[in-house]
Amino acid sequence: MKNTTKAVLCAGSAAVAAGLGVNIAKAVKLKPAKKDAVEIPAEHVDLERYKKNLSDAIRIPTVSDRDHDKVDWAQFEKFRAFLEERYPLFHKAFSKQIVSDASLLYYMPGSDPSLDPIAMIAHQDVVPITPGTEQDWKYDPFGGVEAEGCIWGRGAIDMKNHLIAVMESIETLLEEGWQPVRGVYVLLGHNEENMMHHESGAAYISRELESRGVHLEALMDEGGAVLEARVKGLLDVNVIGVGIAEKGQADIEITLKGKGGHSSQPPVHNALGRMADVIKDLEDHQFKSEFTPLLEELFMRPAVKGTLPVRMVAANLKALRPALTFALSKIPLAAGIVRTTTAVTMAQGSPAPNVLPQKASINVNFRMMPGTSTKDVIDHIRKVVKNKDIELRVVKTKEPSRVSPIDTKAFHMIEEIYSADPKNVVIPYLVFGGTDSYLYEPVCENIYKYSPFRLSVELLANTHGTNERIPIDCMEEAVAFFKRYVRGMTASSE
Ligand SMILES: [Zn+2]
Repeated sequence: MKNTTKAVLCAGSAAVAAGLGVNIAKAVKLKPAKKDAVEIPAEHVDLERYKKNLSDAIRIPTVSDRDHDKVDWAQFEKFRAFLEERYPLFHKAFSKQIVSDASLLYYMPGSDPSLDPIAMIAHQDVVPITPGTEQDWKYDPFGGVEAEGCIWGRGAIDMKNHLIAVMESIETLLEEGWQPVRGVYVLLGHNEENMMHHESGAAYISRELESRGVHLEALMDEGGAVLEARVKGLLDVNVIGVGIAEKGQADIEITLKGKGGHSSQPPVHNALGRMADVIKDLEDHQFKSEFTPLLEELFMRPAVKGTLPVRMVAANLKALRPALTFALSKIPLAAGIVRTTTAVTMAQGSPAPNVLPQKASINVNFRMMPGTSTKDVIDHIRKVVKNKDIELRVVKTKEPSRVSPIDTKAFHMIEEIYSADPKNVVIPYLVFGGTDSYLYEPVCENIYKYSPFRLSVELLANTHGTNERIPIDCMEEAVAFFKRYVRGMTASSE
């Protein structure tokens, strides 16, 4: 997220430097709309309990696996018992149903059954430690150790931190006598790390909700974070990145047949050689780049809070759009926000060093923009590859998600919570990776992916990696956010 923002801003500055016809007067006038500073009362958070419960949650290795028989189901049982023991008020107020092996569906009705409930979702499972890297960990990956101002271990940022923060926030609200007008679902999948399709726990929960006739007002899942965007002399903001859409993914295998034979008598171009042309065609003919409305939000929201040079770009965005789109499409880190990306990831020829390939194949991984389907990808390949002998096979595909609207109660609630500090800027953005929240699309239009933790890019990069850890100084803020969000969403019938 931060990389993306930075790239957008750098590209913007570059465009200005290029001396495109910008209007300075417009830039001077462009300032964020002045709102009266909203006083947000402090929230009580039991940080010691949260720390302890997160450490203990990490100590239960709820590692998921694609293979049902390889999962240690006792750990999930243990995790359920742990939640029940640590959050007694929650378990009194919410009904509990175990769905599809070990996913959890919790529900607390609101006082007004005519209102659509909200959902807070998370996954209980974590990824394993990559074999051979155990020794690289500074502390036991399943030890939940507190050291150096952090809590260490698998799941510390993906996503037991988030799951336990949701539990903490609701337990605390209940201690404070909270009575929701709107119902609340807490939905905890058990295999998000391995399955993001119709067989996953989230899909089962979603179908269960559908069969109950439930329609959700809003759903919140992991996703963005709080990132400090500081570019000296240009920008000083806290970016609150809220994911509102997810790119799709498709792996397509492309095959070319060859004559084979002994490598001592090679033709001018064998199947692999011809495949090289296919790869070049694909790389030379990228999908069209587009400056989407979503990108405009991503760009404008922080820019209006920047210094004059940054505002100059913002005020003249319309004129600069083609230059910006071009600049972004040329930055590998940023290209993914303006177009469907194409990456050739695997290649295969013959099975032996002295055998000509009878068949050459490649795998191409596409990440689709919302609105681009697997069928569009196939059509694109057929169009740009000159060799018409290619055979295509869809290996795996996940269509892009819908784009959640931002003029909603939930999105405005997030903005309101962050409105007290003028440095905060809430930005809707496109998530590159995948989560299972799209499986809830049949029961909810307003799906937001946001984890309220202030994290550095370095720490975020530790997701699924060695020395995954969460700084303690960002934990209190997260529980306070969830308290405000859940209370705000369930407070009145408007
Ligand atoms: Zn996750």
